[in-house]
Amino acid sequence: MVPYNTMVKANEHNQLMLRTTATELIVEDGKVTGVKAEGYDGTQVVAHATKGVILATGGYAANIDMVQETNKYWDASYIADNIGTTNRSSLTGDGITMAEAVGAATEGEGWTQMMPLGWVDNGNLSRGAGENVIFVNAATGKRYVDESAERDVLSLGAFENGMSEETATKLGLKYVPGIFVEISNPSITINGSEDLEGRMYFRTVEEIAEMIGCDAETLRQTIEEYDAYVMGQTDTLDVPKLATQGTIGDVEVDENGNYLPETYNIGTLRMRFQAPSTHHTMGGLLVDVDRHVLNTDGEIIEGLYAAGEVTGGNHAGNRLGGNAITEIIVSGRVAAQAITADNQ
Ligand SMILES: Cc1cc2nc3c(=O)[nH]c(=O)nc-3n(C[C@H](O)[C@H](O)[C@H](O)COP(=O)(O)OP(=O)(O)OC[C@H]3O[C@@H](n4cnc5c(N)ncnc54)[C@H](O)[C@@H]3O)c2cc1C
Repeated sequence: MVPYNTMVKANEHNQLMLRTTATELIVEDGKVTGVKAEGYDGTQVVAHATKGVILATGGYAANIDMVQETNKYWDASYIADNIGTTNRSSLTGDGITMAEAVGAATEGEGWTQMMPLGWVDNGNLSRGAGENVIFVNAATGKRYVDESAERDVLSLGAFENGMSEETATKLGLKYVPGIFVEISNPSITINGSEDLEGRMYFRTVEEIAEMIGCDAETLRQTIEEYDAYVMGQTDTLDVPKLATQGTIGDVEVDENGNYLPETYNIGTLRMRFQAPSTHHTMGGLLVDVDRHVLNTDGEIIEGLYAAGEVTGGNHAGNRLGGNAITEIIVSGRVAAQAITADNQ
């Protein structure tokens, strides 16, 4: 409601058309002068723009065909037809398609950001952090990646260590490439503290090993070695980790917060099944610093501007979490300023 109220209060002529899909840009004498759209009930809409059109239709992470066609970064087998997405279904790259139809160039579409923390069943964001958990290969019961690393590193690690289709089927999970097992202390309750069928379970080491089909002793050793490192009893890890926060097993601390290793034990653990899903499309329309959309000869397409995830080239190959919100606010404002300047 904040953008809505801001727009409507800014100018009484402003209108927000809900459930209305833009389908085509109108071009007259080489200038973009409006948009054609269709309402949910089939109503045809023609919006005339006297000063210019800003495309702000977001990315295309929910359009798996487009992700597959443009992908240059990931092994094609990782982006399976049934891969999940964290995005809403409307994020299908319509703005890019409409602008390309009037000659726009694109930039950086080969990169799609995968969200390693996606639920296996639908790809939605499962939330959480890497510092206070370990990621385990279901077959070996061992860690395979620095859980505090960047999203592309975590996703690649998951794809390379993903659960077999046979194990996923046995567990009743939808099979997608890259299913990994996250294990943590049960005190982490971001998704609640009860089992969630097909997503999260609270179990002992032995019960987890039995479920995922790995050797229980190896899994216990993985957790003990990790926790010994966190407690400062050892100074190396087989798979190094930059940032840790808390142990996986249970251990008491003294009044100064120092671990008391003699109290250490592994009781019930929290386990989540996750897999990378498409999250953010770093590529999109080629724009200049004023957010004019450029054509394939690098020239401004008069009357056409773009802001936000529909544009490319801003985040390079691996967007850092948090930067998209900064980008959408800044780029929207820059585009509006450019329209004003261009029409003076
Ligand atoms: C689950 C999730 C969590 C995230 N968390 C963060 C975070 O913490 N920090 C951060 O920086 N970034 C985050 N991101 C990324 C960030 O939210 C997006 O990059 C950002 O919202 C993109 O903004 P936008 O305005 O460009 O597009 P969007 O916010 O995606 O809006 C585009 C709008 O255009 C509409 N649209 C599309 N096609 C058409 C059409 N043809 N006609 C009419 N309307 C159309 C869509 O329905 C949508 O409402 C997250 C993304 C997701 C999915």
